Amino acid sequence: MELDDIRNRVASAARQAGRDAGEITLIAVSKVQPDDRVVAVLDAGQRVFGENYVQEAQGKWPAWRDRYDGVALHMIGPLQSNKARAAVGLFDAIHTLDRMSLAKKLAAQITEQGRAPQLFVQVNTGDEPQKAGILADELPGFLAACRDLGLSPEGLMCIPPEGEDPVPHFRLLRRLAGENGLPLLSMGMSADFEAAIAEGATHIRVGSAIFGARDYG
Ligand SMILES: *Cc1c(COP(=O)(O)O)cnc(C)c1O
Repeated sequence: MELDDIRNRVASAARQAGRDAGEITLIAVSKVQPDDRVVAVLDAGQRVFGENYVQEAQGKWPAWRDRYDGVALHMIGPLQSNKARAAVGLFDAIHTLDRMSLAKKLAAQITEQGRAPQLFVQVNTGDEPQKAGILADELPGFLAACRDLGLSPEGLMCIPPEGEDPVPHFRLLRRLAGENGLPLLSMGMSADFEAAIAEGATHIRVGSAIFGARDYG
Protein backbone atom coordinates (compact mmCIF):
# COMPACT_ATOMS: atom_id res chain seq x y z
CA MET A 1 0.00 0.00 0.00
CA GLU A 2 0.97 3.69 -0.22
CA LEU A 3 2.06 3.68 3.41
CA ASP A 4 4.93 1.27 2.63
CA ASP A 5 5.96 3.41 -0.29
CA ILE A 6 6.03 6.54 1.90
CA ARG A 7 8.00 4.73 4.61
CA ASN A 8 10.55 3.67 2.01
CA ARG A 9 10.80 7.22 0.71
CA VAL A 10 11.30 8.54 4.25
CA ALA A 11 14.05 5.98 4.83
CA SER A 12 15.87 6.84 1.63
CA ALA A 13 15.56 10.60 2.16
CA ALA A 14 16.99 10.11 5.64
CA ARG A 15 19.84 7.99 4.29
CA GLN A 16 20.68 10.59 1.65
CA ALA A 17 20.74 13.28 4.33
CA GLY A 18 22.98 11.13 6.52
CA ARG A 19 20.25 10.93 9.13
CA ASP A 20 18.75 8.08 11.12
CA ALA A 21 15.18 7.44 9.87
CA GLY A 22 14.27 6.63 13.47
CA GLU A 23 14.50 10.31 14.38
CA ILE A 24 11.75 11.20 11.88
CA THR A 25 8.11 10.79 12.92
CA LEU A 26 5.70 10.19 10.06
CA ILE A 27 2.34 11.74 10.94
CA ALA A 28 -0.40 10.24 8.77
CA VAL A 29 -2.85 13.11 8.24
CA SER A 30 -6.27 11.47 8.32
CA LYS A 31 -8.54 14.53 8.28
CA VAL A 32 -11.66 14.12 6.15
CA GLN A 33 -10.62 10.63 5.00
CA PRO A 34 -13.20 7.82 4.87
CA ASP A 35 -13.01 5.47 7.87
CA ASP A 36 -12.06 2.43 5.79
CA ARG A 37 -8.90 4.13 4.55
CA VAL A 38 -7.86 5.08 8.08
CA VAL A 39 -8.56 1.57 9.38
CA ALA A 40 -6.44 0.08 6.59
CA VAL A 41 -3.54 2.29 7.63
CA LEU A 42 -4.05 1.38 11.32
CA ASP A 43 -4.09 -2.30 10.32
CA ALA A 44 -0.82 -1.74 8.47
CA GLY A 45 0.72 -0.67 11.77
CA GLN A 46 0.75 3.13 11.53
CA ARG A 47 0.12 4.66 14.96
CA VAL A 48 0.78 8.41 14.63
CA PHE A 49 -2.03 10.42 13.05
CA GLY A 50 -2.73 14.08 12.40
CA GLU A 51 -6.10 15.80 12.48
CA ASN A 52 -7.17 19.38 11.72
CA TYR A 53 -10.56 19.63 13.36
CA VAL A 54 -11.19 18.95 17.05
CA GLN A 55 -14.77 17.90 16.51
CA GLU A 56 -13.98 15.47 13.73
CA ALA A 57 -11.18 13.92 15.76
CA GLN A 58 -13.39 13.60 18.85
CA GLY A 59 -15.98 11.81 16.77
CA LYS A 60 -13.78 9.12 15.33
CA TRP A 61 -10.65 8.52 17.43
CA PRO A 62 -11.95 7.33 20.83
CA ALA A 63 -13.34 4.13 19.29
CA TRP A 64 -10.14 3.45 17.31
CA ARG A 65 -8.04 4.10 20.38
CA ASP A 66 -10.00 1.37 22.15
CA ARG A 67 -9.24 -1.05 19.32
CA TYR A 68 -5.61 -0.17 18.58
CA ASP A 69 -2.89 0.25 21.20
CA GLY A 70 -0.41 3.07 21.13
CA VAL A 71 -2.22 5.56 18.92
CA ALA A 72 -0.77 9.09 19.12
CA LEU A 73 -2.86 12.00 17.83
CA HIS A 74 -1.37 15.26 16.64
CA MET A 75 -3.44 18.42 16.20
CA ILE A 76 -2.13 20.18 13.08
CA GLY A 77 -5.02 22.52 12.23
CA PRO A 78 -5.89 26.00 13.50
CA LEU A 79 -7.08 25.70 17.09
CA GLN A 80 -9.89 27.92 18.36
CA SER A 81 -9.43 29.00 21.96
CA ASN A 82 -12.83 27.58 22.90
CA LYS A 83 -11.59 24.13 21.82
CA ALA A 84 -8.53 24.22 24.09
CA ARG A 85 -10.14 22.03 26.72
CA ALA A 86 -11.08 19.32 24.24
CA ALA A 87 -7.73 19.55 22.47
CA VAL A 88 -5.72 19.09 25.67
CA GLY A 89 -7.89 16.11 26.55
CA LEU A 90 -7.59 14.42 23.17
CA PHE A 91 -4.24 15.21 21.56
CA ASP A 92 -0.72 14.04 22.35
CA ALA A 93 0.80 16.95 20.45
CA ILE A 94 -0.41 20.34 19.25
CA HIS A 95 1.49 21.85 16.30
CA THR A 96 -0.46 25.08 16.03
CA LEU A 97 0.30 27.16 19.08
CA ASP A 98 0.16 30.49 17.25
CA ARG A 99 -0.97 33.22 19.65
CA MET A 100 -0.86 34.33 23.27
CA SER A 101 -4.59 33.95 23.91
CA LEU A 102 -4.33 30.28 22.93
CA ALA A 103 -1.18 29.80 25.04
CA LYS A 104 -3.08 31.08 28.08
CA LYS A 105 -6.02 28.75 27.46
CA LEU A 106 -3.74 25.76 26.92
CA ALA A 107 -1.74 26.53 30.06
CA ALA A 108 -4.93 26.68 32.11
CA GLN A 109 -6.18 23.38 30.68
CA ILE A 110 -2.86 21.61 31.14
CA THR A 111 -2.94 22.57 34.82
CA GLU A 112 -6.57 21.62 35.22
CA GLN A 113 -6.37 18.28 33.41
CA GLY A 114 -2.88 17.29 34.51
CA ARG A 115 -2.14 16.34 30.92
CA ALA A 116 0.47 18.09 28.79
CA PRO A 117 0.49 17.56 25.03
CA GLN A 118 3.82 18.19 23.31
CA LEU A 119 3.75 21.72 21.88
CA PHE A 120 5.03 23.18 18.61
CA VAL A 121 4.85 26.90 17.86
CA GLN A 122 3.58 27.64 14.37
CA VAL A 123 5.77 30.18 12.59
CA ASN A 124 4.53 32.30 9.69
CA THR A 125 7.77 31.91 7.75
CA GLY A 126 6.41 33.68 4.67
CA ASP A 127 5.16 36.74 6.58
CA GLU A 128 1.77 36.12 4.97
CA PRO A 129 -0.89 38.48 6.38
CA GLN A 130 -3.72 35.93 6.09
CA LYS A 131 -1.77 33.06 7.61
CA ALA A 132 -1.63 31.99 11.24
CA GLY A 133 1.65 31.82 13.05
CA ILE A 134 4.17 33.85 14.96
CA LEU A 135 6.46 36.08 12.89
CA ALA A 136 10.14 35.14 13.01
CA ASP A 137 11.07 38.44 14.72
CA GLU A 138 8.51 37.87 17.45
CA LEU A 139 9.41 34.27 18.19
CA PRO A 140 11.90 34.78 21.06
CA GLY A 141 9.46 37.02 22.92
CA PHE A 142 6.58 34.62 22.32
CA LEU A 143 8.58 31.66 23.59
CA ALA A 144 9.59 33.60 26.71
CA ALA A 145 5.96 34.49 27.37
CA CYS A 146 4.96 30.82 26.93
CA ARG A 147 7.59 29.78 29.47
CA ASP A 148 6.28 32.38 31.89
CA LEU A 149 2.93 30.60 31.64
CA GLY A 150 4.61 27.29 32.47
CA LEU A 151 4.47 25.97 28.90
CA SER A 152 7.50 24.29 27.36
CA PRO A 153 7.24 24.30 23.56
CA GLU A 154 9.60 21.69 22.12
CA GLY A 155 9.52 22.58 18.46
CA LEU A 156 8.45 24.78 15.58
CA MET A 157 6.03 24.14 12.74
CA CYS A 158 5.53 25.87 9.39
CA ILE A 159 3.34 25.71 6.30
CA PRO A 160 5.31 27.39 3.49
CA PRO A 161 3.39 29.73 1.15
CA GLU A 162 1.49 28.08 -1.72
CA GLY A 163 3.41 27.93 -4.93
CA GLU A 164 6.78 28.93 -3.47
CA ASP A 165 9.91 26.85 -3.13
CA PRO A 166 9.50 25.48 0.41
CA VAL A 167 13.22 24.98 1.03
CA PRO A 168 14.05 28.55 2.19
CA HIS A 169 11.12 28.28 4.63
CA PHE A 170 12.39 24.95 5.97
CA ARG A 171 15.85 26.48 6.40
CA LEU A 172 14.45 29.50 8.22
CA LEU A 173 12.46 27.25 10.56
CA ARG A 174 15.53 25.16 11.28
CA ARG A 175 17.65 28.23 12.01
CA LEU A 176 14.98 29.65 14.34
CA ALA A 177 14.70 26.33 16.18
CA GLY A 178 18.48 26.25 16.62
CA GLU A 179 18.66 29.83 17.84
CA ASN A 180 15.92 29.17 20.36
CA GLY A 181 17.15 25.79 21.57
CA LEU A 182 14.18 23.79 20.29
CA PRO A 183 14.90 20.22 19.12
CA LEU A 184 11.79 19.47 17.03
CA LEU A 185 10.82 20.60 13.53
CA SER A 186 7.36 19.89 12.07
CA MET A 187 7.68 20.57 8.36
CA GLY A 188 7.02 18.81 5.07
CA MET A 189 3.79 17.50 3.56
CA SER A 190 2.95 15.09 0.71
CA ALA A 191 4.56 17.26 -1.95
CA ASP A 192 7.77 18.16 -0.15
CA PHE A 193 8.51 15.84 2.77
CA GLU A 194 11.76 14.59 1.26
CA ALA A 195 13.09 18.16 0.99
CA ALA A 196 11.97 18.76 4.58
CA ILE A 197 13.88 15.68 5.76
CA ALA A 198 16.97 16.98 3.98
CA GLU A 199 16.56 20.23 5.95
CA GLY A 200 16.18 18.52 9.33
CA ALA A 201 12.46 17.79 9.80
CA THR A 202 11.75 15.59 12.82
CA HIS A 203 7.99 15.43 12.13
CA ILE A 204 6.52 15.25 8.63
CA ARG A 205 2.78 15.60 8.04
CA VAL A 206 1.68 13.45 5.11
CA GLY A 207 -1.97 13.09 4.13
CA SER A 208 -2.95 12.60 0.53
CA ALA A 209 0.18 10.67 -0.45
CA ILE A 210 -0.85 7.98 2.06
CA PHE A 211 -4.65 8.08 1.94
CA GLY A 212 -5.40 9.47 -1.50
CA ALA A 213 -7.01 12.80 -2.33
CA ARG A 214 -9.36 14.33 0.24
CA ASP A 215 -12.99 14.72 -0.81
CA TYR A 216 -14.44 17.78 0.92
CA GLY A 217 -17.74 17.37 -0.98
C1 LIG B 1 -3.82 18.75 5.51
C2 LIG B 1 -2.51 19.11 6.07
C3 LIG B 1 -1.37 18.33 5.81
C4 LIG B 1 -1.36 17.15 4.88
O1 LIG B 1 -1.38 17.60 3.56
P1 LIG B 1 -1.07 16.64 2.31
O2 LIG B 1 -0.68 17.57 1.23
O3 LIG B 1 -2.32 15.90 2.04
O4 LIG B 1 0.03 15.74 2.72
C5 LIG B 1 -0.19 18.68 6.44
N1 LIG B 1 -0.11 19.74 7.28
C6 LIG B 1 -1.18 20.51 7.53
C7 LIG B 1 -1.03 21.66 8.46
C8 LIG B 1 -2.40 20.23 6.94
O5 LIG B 1 -3.46 21.03 7.19
